[in-house]
Amino acid sequence: MSAMGELKERLNGRTEEEKKKVGVGDIFLGEGTLTVIAGPCAVENEEQLYATAKAVKEAGAGILRGGAYKPRTSPYSFQGLQKKGLILLSSISKRLNMPVVTEVVDPRDVEMVACYCDILQIGARNMQNYPLLQEAGSSQKPLLLKRGLSATIEEWLLAAEYIVQTGNKKIILCERGIRSFQDITRFTLDISTIPLVKALSPFPIIVDPSHCSGDRELVPAIAQGAIAAGAHGLIIEVHNCPQEALCDGAQSMTPEGFKTLMDDLIPLSQYLKRQEKKRVKAII
Ligand code: PEP
Ligand code: MN
Repeated sequence: MSAMGELKERLNGRTEEEKKKVGVGDIFLGEGTLTVIAGPCAVENEEQLYATAKAVKEAGAGILRGGAYKPRTSPYSFQGLQKKGLILLSSISKRLNMPVVTEVVDPRDVEMVACYCDILQIGARNMQNYPLLQEAGSSQKPLLLKRGLSATIEEWLLAAEYIVQTGNKKIILCERGIRSFQDITRFTLDISTIPLVKALSPFPIIVDPSHCSGDRELVPAIAQGAIAAGAHGLIIEVHNCPQEALCDGAQSMTPEGFKTLMDDLIPLSQYLKRQEKKRVKAII
């Protein structure tokens, strides 16, 4: 039996389950749709968040992102505005009528973060933090579960099962690059996870071209490659003034660069939809 066949058996029949779409406000993330989540790495202040959010919304992003709690490699780096950041995210999301996703890093903060945002993000560094997965799952909010830096697909899909066990199936999986021997890019995007996860899991999968590359110049090609490979969406870092960003400036797109990318993604996703329709007709 192939490695994928063996993994299918170990996943306890989950692969046979009906494909799930995750609803957030008016947006349904999953098969047949393309959802783009965009915004700054970290919430820094009201002007920065509003200017960036307005620009990404005008360019066509459906969901706003922004970190209020930042799990940084160095404890000396900016750790986020925390509760003040959550308040800003919530007020700007309401002002622009845009759902918002933000990361939660501590089980003790889940209840508060869930009050201010629409989707809870579990970051790569916490993918195997099981008490956090259980607490976040129990909030019954949609969860965006990033793949761990060195996690296998099995470990990642089993981490999602910890959430399922809380009765919450509103799970969005996010491939954000893994560690490899090459160190020119920040991480290495494992594009094969897209068709694999679609075959093995009922949950939608999106790709983060910002964190896998660490370089805004690489983001458009990776984003288009991910969509061509079948991803249901993208999460992209954008900053109104990337050279002044407190976090991840080198990988943050300018609003202009992001608009160009969105304009290129529309014909690509329309082409893919037409191809899918042709395939369905051929099967019928
Ligand atoms: C982020 O989305 O800002 C982030 C820290 O991502 P990751 O957990 O993938 O590193
Ligand atoms: Mn970041």
